[in-house]
Amino acid sequence: MPSPLEIVRVPVLSDNYSWLVHDPDSGTTMVIDPGEAQPVLDAAASRGWTISEIWNTHWHPDHVGGNAAIVAATGARVTAPEAERAKIGAIDAGVSDGESVSLGGHRAAVMTVPGHTQGHVAFHFADDSAIFTGDTLFAMGCGRLFEGTPADMFGNMQRYARLPAETRVYCGHEYTQSNGRYALVAEPDNQAIKARMARVDAARAAGEATIPTTIGEELATNPFLRATSAEELGERRAAKDSFRG
Ligand code: ZN
Ligand code: FE
Repeated sequence: MPSPLEIVRVPVLSDNYSWLVHDPDSGTTMVIDPGEAQPVLDAAASRGWTISEIWNTHWHPDHVGGNAAIVAATGARVTAPEAERAKIGAIDAGVSDGESVSLGGHRAAVMTVPGHTQGHVAFHFADDSAIFTGDTLFAMGCGRLFEGTPADMFGNMQRYARLPAETRVYCGHEYTQSNGRYALVAEPDNQAIKARMARVDAARAAGEATIPTTIGEELATNPFLRATSAEELGERRAAKDSFRG
């Protein structure tokens, strides 16, 4: 039985989260989406960890901006979507849907989840009940459709909805409060959203993070995961794009 992964939230830039993932058995450490380098290097150093792997979910600078400096400091190997190799630059391993990647003895399945960007991937550690969703599934939200369609994102949501409810969801931004304000409008009769927002507002007032969330909590409160068609998801995405709550 492998030891559980240790997962550490590292706030970077204005509202991004990078995630340090450490496998105590092999002593290896990986970072998902280092938007900047120094806070990530500091968080690893303070635990006595050396980063040997960088995994990117998509090419946006707030997710890859720290790659080069971390590689320079540690020699870390970069794993990122093959479809976004040209945009990300120095990739050691390009991955796509159905492949798997490992951190020590922990295996993650790669899911291509297009829409926010065309090659966007998520990393699902099934045995660890954890998934890193980048800018696709957020707490009570989903990513903006910069390079895809509502049908793309609806397909992603269908895949996420089938994961075990207890799966912890580690996403790329602290957008929960803003997402929740829209969720209250999208589903005014949903008591689970009201109850969750009370907890979210209290956490944010106390300066606390609201991530990770879980698939089960999102199934109850996320208007994009709960959309029943691509059309409904598209309507909700468009409404959220112009929502000023
Ligand atoms: Zn992005
Ligand atoms: Fe982002």
